[in-house]
Amino acid sequence: MKLCRFNDGRYGLVQGEQLWDVSPVLAPAAASGALFTELVRLTPAITDHAARAPAQLLSAVRLLSPVPRPGKIVAAPVNYINHLIEVKQSSEIHHGVRIEEIQRIGLFLKAPSSLIGPADQINLRFPNRRTDHEVELAVVIGKRANRVTREKALDHVAGYSIGLDITLRGPEERSFRKSIDTYTVIGPWIVTPEEFGDPGDANLSLSVNGQPRQDANTRDLILSVPALIEYASTFYTLEPGDILLTGTPEGVGPIAPGDMISAAIDRIGIINIGVAAP
Ligand code: MN
Repeated sequence: MKLCRFNDGRYGLVQGEQLWDVSPVLAPAAASGALFTELVRLTPAITDHAARAPAQLLSAVRLLSPVPRPGKIVAAPVNYINHLIEVKQSSEIHHGVRIEEIQRIGLFLKAPSSLIGPADQINLRFPNRRTDHEVELAVVIGKRANRVTREKALDHVAGYSIGLDITLRGPEERSFRKSIDTYTVIGPWIVTPEEFGDPGDANLSLSVNGQPRQDANTRDLILSVPALIEYASTFYTLEPGDILLTGTPEGVGPIAPGDMISAAIDRIGIINIGVAAP
């Protein structure tokens, strides 16, 4: 099942190039803060309602972030071996900051206020400083997770989405540089676990103005999705609707005003989003 948010905050069931408005089923759950905990229970009602609703063209709606207000956006620093190598080799990326393995330095947080959807645009805040694209598999939590083991971790996932972790390079703390307004993109929808399948085998890629930049597979993650959930929940409770950005592979590079970014992940889809001046 693919679920999107669109226009003024409506909920849609997506199939192919079409969607069906299922807001009467999902809006009450969202209003009571139970959208992501209730998805499995509500699945029959969602499909029933969609069968009776008129189809709309995806191209005719404005897609929003599928998660309206995450409590936190947890993100993995360098979590692909080949990206670790490229970061260590480039002073423009690491800026003299010591790059260490994720198992030693842990995870970081991005401000929820940085989050936008695929119909928005990335506004470069400091166009004279290098700002990079990072495509990442995004995981949306569906069930409270506190000290869960990696064996049980995927029971706590509501769905998967494409994430962009836009990054200002420089000496400041990661969370400061990555929390700028519009510097987190999620979309175009959430794919539920039974449809997405194994998060440890998904190709992810990103191009800028049609030129390939990143192309990898989540099997090369240093900490897998279950290991990341275990690790994060060792330190704090993951709540339904929290977003986990799992890290970006090699091939990060700068973006500029006027660029068009296309990011794709197997079994999810594609995001096309523009980059604008401040
Ligand atoms: Mn990242």
